[in-house]
Amino acid sequence: MNIEKLIRDVPDFPKKGIVFKDVTPLLANRKALVQCADQLAALSPNDIKIDKVIGIEARGFILGGMIAERLGAGFVPVRKKGKLPSEVISKKYGLEYGEDTLQIHTDAIVAGEHILIHDDVLATGGTASAVCQLVEELGGIVVQCNFIMELDFLKGRDHLITNVASLINY
Ligand code: 5GP
Repeated sequence: MNIEKLIRDVPDFPKKGIVFKDVTPLLANRKALVQCADQLAALSPNDIKIDKVIGIEARGFILGGMIAERLGAGFVPVRKKGKLPSEVISKKYGLEYGEDTLQIHTDAIVAGEHILIHDDVLATGGTASAVCQLVEELGGIVVQCNFIMELDFLKGRDHLITNVASLINY
């Protein structure tokens, strides 16, 4: 099925002048949800066993968990500052609209593990790049960053030194 039709453009969200790509209609569609998870898992390089899938708060948690299940991997959440209960490391990053801090539990990744990072949208690449740095600080190896959708005109891919895959390119 055509998943692109299930992504809704919301003008002036979260700020005037930004057209936000809303994936909630896609997530709400049973067939589309399964199709996305299957396709994203299939895009993972098949010569490397993924140990952990990282989902980036919050929309990255949904398909991140489904991809982990399909790859037989564990799931690790990367969250906004102050949400994770145990010991963390942090990374500040610039957003398309603002600045924020992401955190990961220090024991979530064992050095040498192969990691796949998932989020719903790749825009400027600031978020995914910060997560790559967190993984590398813990000694993990980023195998791929994958996304439902990539906003090509923002060139986020250029900020990621790893393999990048997406289902939709705008
Ligand atoms: P970046 O750091 O690549 O500029 O922005 C990506 C992050 O912001 C992702 O976590 C993503 O969820 C969110 N984001 C930015 N623009 C959009 C958008 O148009 N739609 C959605 N769903 N998320 C967006």
